[in-house]
Amino acid sequence: MTSTVSVKGVSKRYGGKVDALRELSFTLDEGETVALVGHNGAGKTTLIKLLLGLIRPTSGEVRVLGEDPAKGDFGVRRALGYLPESVSFHMALTGRETLSFYARLKRVDVKCADELFERVGLAISAADRPIRTYSKGMRQRLGLAQALLGAPKVLFLDEPTSGLDPALRRNFYTLIDELRAGGTTILLSSHALGELEDRAGRVIIVNRGSQIADGTIDDLRRIASLPSRIRVRPVSGGRPGLLRDTGVRWTEAGDGSLETEVAHAERLPLIHRLSDAASGIDTLTMIEPTLDDLYAHFLNSQEAA
Ligand code: ATP
Repeated sequence: MTSTVSVKGVSKRYGGKVDALRELSFTLDEGETVALVGHNGAGKTTLIKLLLGLIRPTSGEVRVLGEDPAKGDFGVRRALGYLPESVSFHMALTGRETLSFYARLKRVDVKCADELFERVGLAISAADRPIRTYSKGMRQRLGLAQALLGAPKVLFLDEPTSGLDPALRRNFYTLIDELRAGGTTILLSSHALGELEDRAGRVIIVNRGSQIADGTIDDLRRIASLPSRIRVRPVSGGRPGLLRDTGVRWTEAGDGSLETEVAHAERLPLIHRLSDAASGIDTLTMIEPTLDDLYAHFLNSQEAA
């Protein structure tokens, strides 16, 4: 796998007193979707600005496509796409004029505009209307079309789904999956942890400028060792004492189901033991710790340290 982004021991201090980032180190590969998560002020935007070469690190080394992005190599800039946290366009220009403007800056053929409008789900009929008539979601989609100009190898998306309704969010992630499958590296910052769960191959958590976790959701579950919940709904009129010999304590979940918590490594042995009671079980559900649970766990562990 080829690395496209490398961050080594990077710190950023603003104005000699605000430590926005402390000693971050990671690499990103081609064809990876990585979620960057953290509270407000954790340092996500600062990191994206460093990767774009808009600011320089106080110490450490940033490389994007093998170059220092702050040097401003046009070949590298052209291969990057960026969707800022708050997209703002000139309200009097149409979507098409706006995209043409950015296409010229990137020296990309503007003929791709219609295809991009379609790709981000912006009706061609809207392309020739002034942006002041666009909804927030339409402006966000225009921002995404701008980020996709020139088929970037690396995409930085800061809060890309804010302002999108649930259907558009789904479209957005389908598009992200297509880009990732085509080899694009995607780093997206978000507070919407629920929607990232099945969509980001890897999660980097930052807190107060420090990187406190980095891995796939399964890696983070293993490291955090938070218990999973197993819920069993007995068949109607189920046998009393059905789960008596399973070696764990069950509690009523309120809807007739019984629930227990087991350590990560104990999940499969328990499910194996439950197979003896299978004829009395209607449904069995395993509830793994969510990204929300993991995020809270890593944050609390760092705060306690
Ligand atoms: P949010 O989720 O709210 O966008 P964030 O994780 O993107 O937050 P940053 O915007 O990177 O966080 O800010 C990290 C820290 O650096 C904050 O304490 C912020 O106040 C500070 N900061 C950011 N930009 C500057 C600047 N130009 N000058 C001084 N301090 C700054």
